[in-house]
Amino acid sequence: MAVLPSEPEFEQAYKELAVTLENSTLFQKYPQYRKALRIAAIPERVVQFRVVWEDDKGELQVNRGYRVQFNSALGPYKGGLRFHPSVNLSILKFLGFEQIFKNALTGLNLGGGKGGADFDPKGKSDNEIRKFCVAFMTELARHIGPDTDVPAGDIGVSGREIGYLFGQYKKIRNQWEGVLTGKGNSWGGSLIRPEATGYGLIYYVQKMIEYATNGKETIAGKRVAISGSGNVAQYAALKTIQLGGKVISMSDSKGALVVRDVDGEGFTPQEIEEIAALKVERQQISILANKEPYATKYKYIENARPWTHLPKVDVALPCATQNEVSGDDARALIAAGTRYVAEGSNMGSTQEAIDVFESHRETNTANFVWYAPGKAANLGGVAVSGLEMAQNSSRESWTSEKVDQRLHQIMENCFNLGLKTAKEYVKTPEGALPSLLAGSNIAGFIKVAEAMHDQGDWW
Ligand code: GLU
Repeated sequence: MAVLPSEPEFEQAYKELAVTLENSTLFQKYPQYRKALRIAAIPERVVQFRVVWEDDKGELQVNRGYRVQFNSALGPYKGGLRFHPSVNLSILKFLGFEQIFKNALTGLNLGGGKGGADFDPKGKSDNEIRKFCVAFMTELARHIGPDTDVPAGDIGVSGREIGYLFGQYKKIRNQWEGVLTGKGNSWGGSLIRPEATGYGLIYYVQKMIEYATNGKETIAGKRVAISGSGNVAQYAALKTIQLGGKVISMSDSKGALVVRDVDGEGFTPQEIEEIAALKVERQQISILANKEPYATKYKYIENARPWTHLPKVDVALPCATQNEVSGDDARALIAAGTRYVAEGSNMGSTQEAIDVFESHRETNTANFVWYAPGKAANLGGVAVSGLEMAQNSSRESWTSEKVDQRLHQIMENCFNLGLKTAKEYVKTPEGALPSLLAGSNIAGFIKVAEAMHDQGDWW
């Protein structure tokens, strides 16, 4: 009888990393790293707690709260908080594990962690959200600190929630300090932090296109399929449009909006703003489906992701949640001509989808595609969180130009490091592009394993 994994998402993330290390020459050259992987697979600490709060009817509600403090070799634990009904330990361990190596790839001193609760913000009033955040932080406060663990946002947690969480931390500890990132601009937040994941994703994709075409092409004129409609998707879309690309889809958990004519006009910045306004109200994009100009210009497909509904795609950017690209989706994207896939979401692709993408890297074939994993392509968000921490420590606020320039540099360095490491440790077939998956996994892992060794975590 097959034994089902007890932590399926975590085991998927672990295997994805372990298999790429195993298939490279890393363990042949440095067999001791196998030991490091065994140690790194276990979180340094997991905190689980109950969160009791009162809803608007005066009734008692209870949720499960968590913080996975996975690895502090490179810096304080760092990673977002996710509020979503699906949250459990498997999901937070997978996110925390990814975060370790992602944060290593930023080049900044950030450890890896993740937390959250199985709280569903949908349909809750502002008052209920505030009460929940206060109850959640009342327990979390004792486990975090600016040099210990610095949470931030993720799905279901953005500026408003960070504000309530920060206020409660400050009350309990009587200290104004950079314990959370993604703060408001007037109270310690960094400019460009809300935009950073989406912008960084596009900067990364620009490097992919530049490398694959020897500098002949850019994102300008490309059809860009995006899933999701949250923070990452919105700013990825806006940056794509700003650089002359055409956004041909957006989606949410209930359905997808795809352009009827992929050769016609794509989403406009105004339409993206309208979607952003809907999200603030915790509304679904289906509301737009029967409204002009949406009804004429777009097709709304219920309960679907965009991937199998687009006849021509150049760039695909999964920006919604984990496992949102299946093997069949990957094959459909390749059939639609997709050349570049880069994840704005964490573990956006299933292992089957990754295998499909990774086996199509030969540029001399008609349907080649180049895949970039989330831990490289979406690290712009946590990188600017790192810059927010630096600004808080020095009591400074940098200009948006300075932050954007640092973000550009970090994305470029990450791309170059992934490429260089892939060339060093993995055999690339003749005419194929190096595996950014393997290169990024290996580069992030070596950095963490070395720091752990220096600190006596393994020997
Ligand atoms: N949740 C984001 C991520 O997955 C950002 C985390 C942070 O800024 O700490 O990387």
